[in-house]
Amino acid sequence: MKEAFKHLGWFFKQEWKSYILCFVLLIIVSLTPLIPAKLLGMAIDAITMETMTKKLFFLYVGGLIFFPVITYLFNIVYHYTINRLGHDLSFKLREKYIDHLFEMDAELYEEYTKGDLIARATNDLQNITVLATSFLQQTIFHTGVIIGAVVMMVLIDPILTLASSIIMPIAIFWLNKKRLKKREYYKTHHEIYANMTESVLESIEGVKTIRAYGQEEEDFKRTKKAIDADVNSWWKILKFEAIYSPMFELVYAVCYFIAIGLGSYMVIHSQITAGDLVTFLLYVAMLYNPLIGLSNVLNSMNSIVIADGRFQEIMDKQPLVKNEENPMPVLKFSTIEFKDVRFRYPFDDFDVIAGINLTIHSGETIGVVGPTGAGKSTFIRQLLREFNVTSGDILIDGRSIAQYKIEDVRNLVGYVPQNHILFRRSVDDNILIGNPNASINEISKAMDIADFKKDLIELPEGSQTMVAELGGSLSGGQRQRLSIARALVKNPEILILDDSLSAVDALTEANIIAHLKETRKEKTNIIVAHRFSAVSTADKIIVMQNGKITDIGTHDELLKYDNWYKMQYLKQIKGDVYEEL
Ligand code: ADP
Repeated sequence: MKEAFKHLGWFFKQEWKSYILCFVLLIIVSLTPLIPAKLLGMAIDAITMETMTKKLFFLYVGGLIFFPVITYLFNIVYHYTINRLGHDLSFKLREKYIDHLFEMDAELYEEYTKGDLIARATNDLQNITVLATSFLQQTIFHTGVIIGAVVMMVLIDPILTLASSIIMPIAIFWLNKKRLKKREYYKTHHEIYANMTESVLESIEGVKTIRAYGQEEEDFKRTKKAIDADVNSWWKILKFEAIYSPMFELVYAVCYFIAIGLGSYMVIHSQITAGDLVTFLLYVAMLYNPLIGLSNVLNSMNSIVIADGRFQEIMDKQPLVKNEENPMPVLKFSTIEFKDVRFRYPFDDFDVIAGINLTIHSGETIGVVGPTGAGKSTFIRQLLREFNVTSGDILIDGRSIAQYKIEDVRNLVGYVPQNHILFRRSVDDNILIGNPNASINEISKAMDIADFKKDLIELPEGSQTMVAELGGSLSGGQRQRLSIARALVKNPEILILDDSLSAVDALTEANIIAHLKETRKEKTNIIVAHRFSAVSTADKIIVMQNGKITDIGTHDELLKYDNWYKMQYLKQIKGDVYEEL
């Protein structure tokens, strides 16, 4: 718990004035309700002893109205302030979390699922906010009421106080010991919740594929299983609460019974007045909510500590790919050299790239071919600096890629991935993501090169047509061409088409390749393709198998002797295009 408070130290420091105000208001609103109870007792005594005067009567009535009104007004200020603090904190924490997620490298996204990361930013973050708001509120308020009421009770009669309230703390202590069991279970519950979130997300995202394959029922069963697991987990917690929470009411009833019994005995024997007994009983009544509240506060510590741990686990992660001190800027390059580069994904047990040596000269067009899973995508993605290479090095103009500013290195590249990520924005805005400062002419030119212009006629509002989520409203080919236009509008030093021409027909592919040759003469193009027609005019073609470069040469050079390229090429021109690929 101390740790959780420490993690929020920056917020308490920043908002210390509001917290002091809340503290003072809480003390006031916890103590002011004690006064009307006392006034009522005094009024009853004045009536029974026949000492009530008109002046006293108005004083008592006035007091009975004044103090609740004051409490109400202070409560308004208090609740406004604490709610504002709560909103501020959750907003700031979410902002920090998102910033941190953007800073992190790809390894984090390999380790954690989307559902898990979202659960930490919602459910867990909510629990942490509770710590800085209602947890503090309840602790201070309830403690204030309990101390105030007990002091007033002792002032009436210490023996009566001891007899009627001693079992309460003992009962709470015992109940909380029982509840400790729940603490261990909460961690499991959080995992079940994250799994449910992930499952629902997957169903929503994959709804089209699920329908296309008639898998609705299967998917429903799978999602329902995850939801049921979450519901059952909640039931388990609720059942526990249902059994143990009413137990305190039983204990409280016993205390009340003792207070009435012993108190009446004392009144009969003139040890206390009737008014004292009424006041005393009101104080005993006042103890109920704070005691339950305090025990709930202790109980909520479980979920707060776990939530804080889960949230902090992500916040403590440091990216492995980060800028060195004083990184070098890079806007252009002459050569990029792969030197004995090996690469293994963080949670894999084999090298996907198994020793690559290659020099890329600026202005070259390079084709990359090879069987599926050979490591082509992994190899060229090394230029995006998503991960550090496992061994070897990539040199840009003789210096390690690690010495350059990560942002600059990424800016050298316009990457068109296999899975096109399009946003729910207009076609134009989707292209502008590549270069937010691009002019209309530049957008138009990018569309020309990507052969996307012809698609605009088919779109209802041309380039202003809204693209549905993940590009759902466009055909596969249109999505590819739009993604290519987005990369081209950046006019990058290196354009990478990572199997980005697979969904376009042969004619469109030929058009795009011809446009690239014409407009990107000075720039570097890397084209990963399954269809050899996309790479046949490249300056050099790299053949990759099992994470290694097994052949390198121009189309004509590679066709001069028997090799994988020649074999596949012959198959393709015979028509067995994708067999074995
Ligand atoms: P290609 O582009 O030649 O089809 P990839 O580079 O996509 O090959 O994949 C090469 C190997 O790396 C495959 O065995 C694949 O399972 C593995 N792989 C690809 N991406 C990841 C990843 N993010 N995490 C772990 N393994 C991966």
